[in-house]
Amino acid sequence: DTLINQIAAGEVVERPASVVKELVENALDAGAKRIDIDLEEGGVRLIRIRDDGGGIASDELPLAVSRHATSKIASIDDLEAVATLGFRGEALPSVASVSRFRLASRRRDAEHGAELRIDGGKLGEVAPNAHPHGTTVEVRDLFFNVPARRKFLRAERTELSHIEEWLRTLALARPDVEIRVSHNGKPSRRWKGEGNLLSDVRLHEALGEEFARNALRVDHAGAGMRLHGWIAQPAYNRASADQQYLYVNGRSVRDRNVAHAVRQAYSDVLFHGRHPAYVLFLELDPRGVDVNVHPAKHEVRFRESRLVHDFVYRTLHAALAETRA
Ligand code: ADP
Ligand code: MG
Repeated sequence: DTLINQIAAGEVVERPASVVKELVENALDAGAKRIDIDLEEGGVRLIRIRDDGGGIASDELPLAVSRHATSKIASIDDLEAVATLGFRGEALPSVASVSRFRLASRRRDAEHGAELRIDGGKLGEVAPNAHPHGTTVEVRDLFFNVPARRKFLRAERTELSHIEEWLRTLALARPDVEIRVSHNGKPSRRWKGEGNLLSDVRLHEALGEEFARNALRVDHAGAGMRLHGWIAQPAYNRASADQQYLYVNGRSVRDRNVAHAVRQAYSDVLFHGRHPAYVLFLELDPRGVDVNVHPAKHEVRFRESRLVHDFVYRTLHAALAETRA
């Protein structure tokens, strides 16, 4: 089983940033309001993520780290309408197979906490642990047992910046959650967790004052969908392809179809060839979108992609045109 998990890890765990992404998603799915992240050496030496979410019952710790065990969906019908960030039950077993791993947790209703260690896929025993409510996942020495993978890890700075980019991506969608990060023992970032999706507090925190000042607020519903967020106006000229954040039902995804619609609306109104910068949230009936396209969940497939394209195009075209009037 360790081998199978290691093979799966090849798809889910590319680098420390992918571990951070999966673990933070788990914390968010568990209803965490505060997430503490400790990193060492760009996450290669240590990633420790502690949350104040619902926790895991002691007797369910082994289940949480076993393959395709997810508590988030129970049937194929649920898969049609996934409401959580996770649903494949692959992240924990994959990460645990390629690191020195520890999972400690305590449910709100439990008297005691417990922990489980896994060393390169070798499962230990569940042991009592004085854990507060919530969950801690500790990942040490990523890829220590997979030299071919370890070889592809980059310098500490590079790995750290990939982590920061994923945190920015996750934090933009959840301004209500506080996230604290420390690197090599020093506090390195704090996301305050006081905002809501309609305020631009987090936008400001994430993309800076200049973006926030030049961002056009968009919010429009129609055709069974809603598109809201911000698109930068031409005065904001630091735009690059990496300031394009798209979320579909709260999940950060890359989608060419939607990206094309945004670019098209932007250039049709503003006659601008540059990459527009944006943070956009598209919401639609989960049954209209398949999230189970790729193990790392970076892509989705729309049932009616033409309709989605038109909706995004028209919404942004109208909003941008108004600023020109
Ligand atoms: P998935 O998120 O797709 O369900 P994972 O392998 O990421 O799969 O996690 C397996 C299971 O472990 C989850 O379904 C959940 O029940 C439990 N779990 C993982 N992380 C946490 C956490 N931080 N808090 C509570 N439960 C968790
Ligand atoms: Mg998960």
